[in-house]
Amino acid sequence: MNKHLLTWIDLSRSAFHHNVDSLVRLAGKRALSVCVKANAYGHGIEPVVELLKERKDVDYLTVHSIDEAIECRLAGWRGRIMMVGPAPLASLEAVVAHDVEPVVFTRDSLEVLGKISKRTNKTIRTHLKLETGTNRQGVTEKELSKFATLYKRYPKLGKPYGASMHFANIEDTTSHEYAQEQLSRYNEMVRRMQVLGIKPTIRHTACSAALILFEKTRFELVRPGIAAYGHWPSKETYLSYRLEGGRNNIFQPVLTWRTRVTQIKDVAADSFVGYGCTYRTTSKTKLAILPIGYSDGYDRQASNIAHVLIKGKRAPVRGRVCMNLMMVDITDIPGVKLEAPATLIGEEGSGGGVRKKEDRVTAEQLAAWSGTINYEILARLSRAIPRVIVD
Ligand SMILES: *Cc1c(COP(=O)(O)O)cnc(C)c1O
Repeated sequence: MNKHLLTWIDLSRSAFHHNVDSLVRLAGKRALSVCVKANAYGHGIEPVVELLKERKDVDYLTVHSIDEAIECRLAGWRGRIMMVGPAPLASLEAVVAHDVEPVVFTRDSLEVLGKISKRTNKTIRTHLKLETGTNRQGVTEKELSKFATLYKRYPKLGKPYGASMHFANIEDTTSHEYAQEQLSRYNEMVRRMQVLGIKPTIRHTACSAALILFEKTRFELVRPGIAAYGHWPSKETYLSYRLEGGRNNIFQPVLTWRTRVTQIKDVAADSFVGYGCTYRTTSKTKLAILPIGYSDGYDRQASNIAHVLIKGKRAPVRGRVCMNLMMVDITDIPGVKLEAPATLIGEEGSGGGVRKKEDRVTAEQLAAWSGTINYEILARLSRAIPRVIVD
C-alpha cells in the first residue's frame, strides 16, 4: 500500500487473464475484440492495454471514440482497433492516421472517409453498423443501397470489411425472442448487402451476453466487454448460463477499490451526521471519515444504505455521501486506526482482516444500493484515481 495515496484501484492481473482465457475459449476460432471503452470500464485504458499486450490471442480492441483509440496507441497497442462510436467528421483523418477501423452509420462520414482514401490512395477498413431494432446507431435496410453507391464511388475504400449490430434486449431478460428477431433481421440485411455488391468480409454482433449465451451470434468476430473485467452483464445472463449447465467461476472481478480512514471521531447519542441531517445516532457512535465522495464515482444514492469493509468487517455508510467525503460507522469494529484501509468495492485481503466469503462488496451490490447497474458503477470511477496492477 502506497502511503502517499488516499485512494487507489488494484487490478488483479491473474483475474484479468483468467477472464480473457474464458473469452478466448468461448470465442473458439473466431477473432476476439476486447472492449476498452469508458476508460476500460473504469479499470483504466493504460493498465488494461498493458495487460492485453501480455497476450497473443486478442486481435482487436473495441473503443468508443477516437480519443480512446489514441490512448490505446499511446499505451503501445499495435494491434487492430475498432471504433464503435461516432467521431467528428473533422477527426476522421486522425482515425485513418492511427489505423483505427471505424464503424460507419452515416453517409456523411463514409463520404469523408471515401475522399481520404482517394486522396491518400489508402484502403480504409470500415465496418457498417446495421439497424436491426435497437434504434440507436445504425443503417436501415432502405438506406443500404445509398451506402453501396458510396462504396462504389470510392473504390479505394473497398467493400465494408465488417457488418455489425448490437442487441437491445439480451442481458435484461431470460426471454430471448427479441434477440432472435434482431438476429434474423441482421442476417437478412447481410444478404441484402451481398446482393448490392458490398458483401462484408466479417460479421460481428456479440457483446458479452450474446457471446456467452448464443452460439449463433458469434459469427467471425466477438466483441465482449464487461466479462473481461470479471462481471456478468446481468443476473439474468448468469442464470440463463447456469441453467444451461455452464460452469461457475469463469469470470472473476479484476478491480478492488480502496481508500483509507482519514479521521476517527466519537459522537454522542442523538447526533446528526452529514448534510441534510438524514442520519441520527441512537447511541454513542464511532465514525470513520473516508476521503471518497460522489465526485470519485461513489453514488450519492447509496447514502445511508451501503457499507464498506474495514478490517474485514462491514462499516455502514451514515448520512449523505458528500462530494469528496463520506462517513461510516465503526462502533462495532474495534481497533481501527488512522489511515486504516477501507474497501469500497472488492474483498478484504491481506491488508484488512480475515478473508471470509461474505466479506466483500461487489460492484453489483453497490449498483443495487445505488439504483443502477454494475456497468455504470464501474464506468464512472473517476479517472483521477490511480490504478495499480497487482499479482
Ligand atoms: C459496449 C459494447 C460492447 C460490449 O458490451 P458488453 O455488454 O460490455 O460485453 C459490444 N459492442 C458494442 C457496439 C458496444 O457498444
